[in-house]
Amino acid sequence: MSRVPLARPSIADRERHYVQEALDGSWLSGHGPHVERFEWAWAARCGTLHAVAVASGTAALHLLLLALEVCPGDEVIVPALTYVAVANAVRHAGGTPVVVDVDPTTWCLSPDGARAAITPRTVGILAVHAYGHPADIGALAGIAARHRLWLLEDGAEAHLATYHGVVVGGLADAAGFSFFGNKIVSTGEGGAVTTNDPALAGRVRALSRQGVAGGDERYRPSLTGLGLRMGNLAAAVGCGQLDRLDDLLDRRRVLWRRYEGGLRDATGVELQPVSGCVTVAPWLFSVTFDDGRARRDAVRRQLADDGIESRPLFPNLACLPVAAPPRDGCPEADRLAASGLSLPLHPDLPGEDLDRVVDVVRFA
Ligand SMILES: *Cc1c(COP(=O)(O)O)cnc(C)c1O
Repeated sequence: MSRVPLARPSIADRERHYVQEALDGSWLSGHGPHVERFEWAWAARCGTLHAVAVASGTAALHLLLLALEVCPGDEVIVPALTYVAVANAVRHAGGTPVVVDVDPTTWCLSPDGARAAITPRTVGILAVHAYGHPADIGALAGIAARHRLWLLEDGAEAHLATYHGVVVGGLADAAGFSFFGNKIVSTGEGGAVTTNDPALAGRVRALSRQGVAGGDERYRPSLTGLGLRMGNLAAAVGCGQLDRLDDLLDRRRVLWRRYEGGLRDATGVELQPVSGCVTVAPWLFSVTFDDGRARRDAVRRQLADDGIESRPLFPNLACLPVAAPPRDGCPEADRLAASGLSLPLHPDLPGEDLDRVVDVVRFA
């Protein structure tokens, strides 16, 4: 039987065409027409005025936090159920990641938890749209405004998801995206910042290229930057992905619905919740098991025996050394980390393979 990977980028003739064009033009590094084209196309899809293409999703967050001038001692509120890159970016920008539990109805940052975690040192909230589901940005924006905090989105796992009809990436002060190989849009390694704030976009752009801002001479930067631009070859892959994005999303949605149909009434299995006011991005398909870790691990072993990759949900960030010791526990993140499992989903996943996954999850 065929092996079933958790995720795999879908590469077709559009990607090959742009990569060939880039190679033929010797456009390999950050100065190249495909970077600009990719930035315009990504901003258009996110409905924002600006997109800055960068080296990774982690770089997008790191550069945003530097552009917002996070200082030592500054606290940034982050959710407990997310990838460690979020906390790493806060630390490397000089701040302290303060981990707050997630809401069981969204798996994203709990607005009540965020409100309770604010101290005089809090400077901002970094809300992650987890597993394709938008965070409750309305509630978080209200809290941020009341306390004069900035609000950032991390849309790495939620490309083109919507919240009250608005696409993620344009819901807060700015957003970071990842185009890593397992994300919906992939450039291999890569990321982007989106924002409607021209000054912030300019600072991120300058910081990504050694601090050289718009008015600076090339070798006389006015800021202290880093080398974190996206390369043109990666952007060429991204241009192909964006040409095909509607098709890629349609194929993912068909598979998502097939999982829903197959697992909706499975005994002891809960599907990832979806709030009424959102459309989720069909990234991985994630479930939790009522019996918790024992059944999850048994299913995972059976899947592995059948050549099917799966992935437990992220460990509680508060348990990792990068995070500040939590002031309160994060029981929801602990519960999800112990009982949750993500199942394979990518545009080229054959329906029969998906049905095999469903059978194991139902009957293991
Ligand atoms: C993948 C991911 C990142 C990091 O992206 P890289 O491109 O691997 O640096 C950041 N945040 C979240 C929520 C992610 O899922």
